[in-house]
Amino acid sequence: MSAFVGKYADELIKMAKYIATPGKGILAADEGPGTMGKRLSSINVENVESNRQAFRELLFTAPNALPNLSGVILVEETLYQKTSGGKPFVEVLQENNVVPGIKADKGKVKLAGTNGETTSQGLDTLGARCQQYYKAGARFAKWRAVFKIGPNEPSELSIQQNARGLARYAIICQENGLVPIVEPDILIDGSHDIKKCAAATETVLAAVYKALNDQHVLLEGTLLKPNMVTPGSDSPKVPAKVIAEYTVAALRRTVPPAVPGILFLSGGQSEEDSTLNLNAMNKLDVLKPWTLSFSFGRALQLTTLKTWGGKKEDIGKAQEVFRARCLANSEATLGKFTGGTAGGLASES
Ligand code: 13P
Repeated sequence: MSAFVGKYADELIKMAKYIATPGKGILAADEGPGTMGKRLSSINVENVESNRQAFRELLFTAPNALPNLSGVILVEETLYQKTSGGKPFVEVLQENNVVPGIKADKGKVKLAGTNGETTSQGLDTLGARCQQYYKAGARFAKWRAVFKIGPNEPSELSIQQNARGLARYAIICQENGLVPIVEPDILIDGSHDIKKCAAATETVLAAVYKALNDQHVLLEGTLLKPNMVTPGSDSPKVPAKVIAEYTVAALRRTVPPAVPGILFLSGGQSEEDSTLNLNAMNKLDVLKPWTLSFSFGRALQLTTLKTWGGKKEDIGKAQEVFRARCLANSEATLGKFTGGTAGGLASES
C-alpha cells in the first residue's frame, strides 16, 4: 500500500509525531506579501519587506512563546529572512525545538466548469521546490485547498479535483522529505447551519483520504489541517461544546487513526472562540486517536498585530500578548483552558 515514500519514511513519521506533541501546536505565519499587506494596512503600516520582517521577528523572538509551538509555517521570503541581529529565522526556530515549515501551494485560481469554486496551483514545480525548502531547513509543508458551501457547493467536481491535488502534493512532499500538512479548508462564509457544514466536511474528508490512499501516501507521516465544523458566519452562534461534538464526530468518521495529528485552522473565528472550541474538543469524553491541536494564523496574531501597531516601543507589549495566546492554545490542546486571555480584543474576528 503506502510503500513508495522511500528513504524518508522513518524521518517523516518521527517528524509528524513530534509536530503533533500534545501541548504544542503550529503558528501559521505563512501570509504571502499580498495577504501580509492587508494585515499591515489594517494597522496603517506600509507593506514593505522591512515591516514584514519586523513583525515576524517580533513573533519568533517573543520571550517564552516558542515552548508552546512545535512548528511555524513560513513563506519563501521568511524562510531566508534574518533577525535584525543577523540570525536566520530558521535557526531561531530550530534552537527552540520549533520545526520550520513552508507554504507550498501557489494560491488558488477559479476551477473552470464550476460556479466560482477554486483549485490550488503549484504542482508542476513542487518537487524541485521541495528540494530547495528541505535544503533551507524546512521539514514540513502546507497546501491549502479551498471549498465553499453553497446551494450546490462543494460540487463533486471541486471535491474530486482538490482531493486529487492534495494527494499529489502530499506524495511529492514525502518523496522529498517534507511532512505534508493536508489542508482542506471549507470556508465559514454563508448562512448555512452547522449540520450543513458537518455534511460537507465529512464528504470532503472522505474524498481526501480516499485520494491519499490511492496515491500511496504514508498517512503516519502526514498531518491534517481542517476547518472546525461551525454554523456559517451569517448564522446564529452555537456553544463551543456543540461545535466540538460535530467536529469530532466528522473527524472520527473520516480520518484514519494512522494520522498522528489534526491541527485546525481558525478560519476567521475570533481568537477566544478558536481556543474555546479547541479546548471543548479536547474535553470531549470519546475516543480520539489523534492529537487535536492548532495551526492558527489570524487567531494567534490579530491582537498581537494591533498591540504592536508598527511601533518599536510596543514590541514588548505585543510579544506578551502573543505569548499569552500561544499558552492559551497550548492549554486548549490539553483541555485545560479556562478562558479570558488577552483582554477584549481577543473576542474580535
Ligand atoms: P487562519 O487560522 O487565519 O485561518 O489561517 C490558517 C491558515 O494557514 C490558512 O491557510
